[in-house]
Amino acid sequence: MTSTDQYTFTNPVEQYRMPQPDEQQQDGPGLDQNLAPKADHGEETYRGSGRLSGRKALITGADSGIGRAVAIAFAREGADIVLSYLPEEQEDAAEVAQLIEKAGRKAVLTPGDISDEQYARGLVRTAVKELGGLDTVVNVAGRQQTAEKLEDITSESFDQTMRTNIHAMFWVIQEALPHLPAGSAIINTSSVQAYSPSPTLVDYATTKAAINTFSKALAQQLAPRGIRVNVVAPGPIWTPLQTAGGQPPEALPKFGQQTPLGRPGQPAELAPAYVYLASAESGYTVGETLTVTGGMPTP
Ligand code: NAD
Ligand code: MG
Repeated sequence: MTSTDQYTFTNPVEQYRMPQPDEQQQDGPGLDQNLAPKADHGEETYRGSGRLSGRKALITGADSGIGRAVAIAFAREGADIVLSYLPEEQEDAAEVAQLIEKAGRKAVLTPGDISDEQYARGLVRTAVKELGGLDTVVNVAGRQQTAEKLEDITSESFDQTMRTNIHAMFWVIQEALPHLPAGSAIINTSSVQAYSPSPTLVDYATTKAAINTFSKALAQQLAPRGIRVNVVAPGPIWTPLQTAGGQPPEALPKFGQQTPLGRPGQPAELAPAYVYLASAESGYTVGETLTVTGGMPTP
């Protein structure tokens, strides 16, 4: 599906092109293991070069999709990692832990429900204890449930989307702040949905716009302390979230074809953006939202 590593000169129209998926649906958060075709998280291709040497990172949603790709890349760049994910995703998370350890780094598996404040805050305390500190916080966990009509969104579902996408980010960052030394990086995950919302993703798109604004405000507040806040905004990426209620199943065969590159992105294509924003090489970049959308325009 792809080239030898992320640096090989390649045509982005053809790189990572995948066979058209069939209609499919998963329960719960969905498992990477059940995705067909398989997603590419850079397992075979991501080549590290010490860009995050000795860093201590907390990554939420690290079991699958974009978070998995970020975890693999961070480990190969030299970071130790605490992984957050839901208990029912244990098998996916165990695979990621193996890859991190294969890269010679520490992987700490910390399952739990991030919409629960106790767990979200406890996660940070675990990270600080297990890694001997913390300097990189990457919020990737997210909930996306498609709904044809606003009337179809229950209060419970609306609340769960807000808590998972917004409250958890707030809790994790607030709990982390006393531990983050100058030089630390916080990276949140928005979406092209923040700018170009689908009519069937009203609640989700709202959270992604909120994440952008939260991050731009906080970035200014924390910059004088030497802590940088930035955001990655993905376009349509082939991950379990899309097959677990994120899209209507009948939309999946055409997923991502509306982009100028004419294909969905793979999680592997997101990892370099997170590595860049975590690394000191982006030191003068603060409050930025880096879009990785296959060419879908954003403001
Ligand atoms: P994914 O399903 O692989 O990852 C989402 C992860 O969120 C899950 O693995 C799960 O561990 C975590 N999560 C969800 N609810 C949770 C909860 N209550 N407690 C703990 N963890 C929970 O899918 P993905 O597409 O890689 O999603 C990662 C992020 O990227 C999300 O924030 C999503 O909104 C964002 N995003 C995805 C796309 C896309 O097209 N896939 C596009 C734009 C933005
Ligand atoms: Mg998952």
